[in-house]
Formats: sequence, C-alpha cells, structure tokens
Amino acid sequence: MELIDTHCHLDFSAFDHDRSNVVNACYHAGIKTIVVPSVKQSNWVHVIATQQQFNGVQVAFGLHPCFIKDHKVEHIDALDNLIKSKNPVAIGEIGLDFYIQDTDRDKQYWLFNAQLELAQHHALPILLHVRKAHEHVIIALKKRKFAVVLCMLLVAAWNKHAVI
Ligand SMILES: [Zn+2]
Repeated sequence: MELIDTHCHLDFSAFDHDRSNVVNACYHAGIKTIVVPSVKQSNWVHVIATQQQFNGVQVAFGLHPCFIKDHKVEHIDALDNLIKSKNPVAIGEIGLDFYIQDTDRDKQYWLFNAQLELAQHHALPILLHVRKAHEHVIIALKKRKFAVVLCMLLVAAWNKHAVI
C-alpha cells in the first residue's frame, strides 16, 4: 500500500540534523508522497527548497493563523503569484486559531477567507489548522461549498501547546 502524508513540516529546523533519515524512513514505511505545508511568507523558500531536495515531496503554500502577526495584506497577492508559478498541490496551512488569547480574530477571519477564495479560484484543496474555532471554520467552508474529505485533529497530551 502506498501512503501519502498530507501534512509534515519537513522544512522546519527541527529536521536539520536528520531530514534525509526521516524521509528515507517514510519511504521505507510506504509513505511515497509527503506534502509539506507552509506557515508564512518567509518560510515559502524553505518549503520550496525541501521539495527540490527530495523526490516525493509536494508543497502547499499558505499563511498559518498562528503566525498572524507576521502576515501582511500584500502576502495574499504574493501567495496568488506563487501558486501560479509553483503549482502546489494545496493551499495550506490555513485556518482559524482562537485558542491563542492574544490574537487578532478579525485579521484571522480576513486572511482565512482570502485564502479560501484563492483555493477556489485555483481549484485547489486546503490543509486546515483549527483550534477552538471549529464552528466558525465549518460555517466558512459550507458558505463556500467546500467538501471536507477528512478532518483529523491530533493533540498529544504531552504537547498541549503544539500549534502546528
Ligand atoms: Zn502544520
């Protein structure tokens, strides 16, 4: 059986010392495709570099709600241009995170909707991040007639502060 990992932040520095080993272990375990999502404009270049380094790595581009302070309005146009030039397999990682106390919810809504619009415009699926905002996300997806194929949330008890 061939498996696809739809969400692995292989570009993060946590993998700098063993990225190749992790990818090889995945391939040997039957994971032939790994989708690396992005979190903010400054990390798009790292995601692209990761794709260029390994066969079987596909990319998704997006602006993650946990990095809301890093995102600017013009990043949506930059994302649109990147999608046109790099052919990602999805828009991601996007969503809403209301678990974070010190966040700008209006900006999160705006950014999320702008990226949903881009996904529809380019006919791409989305990779979601959702915490304490599931109802809001479901309403937004229904409004735009997105079909949810699979929704899985893993929060390990030992890592309750995980944000990605
Ligand atoms: Zn993630």
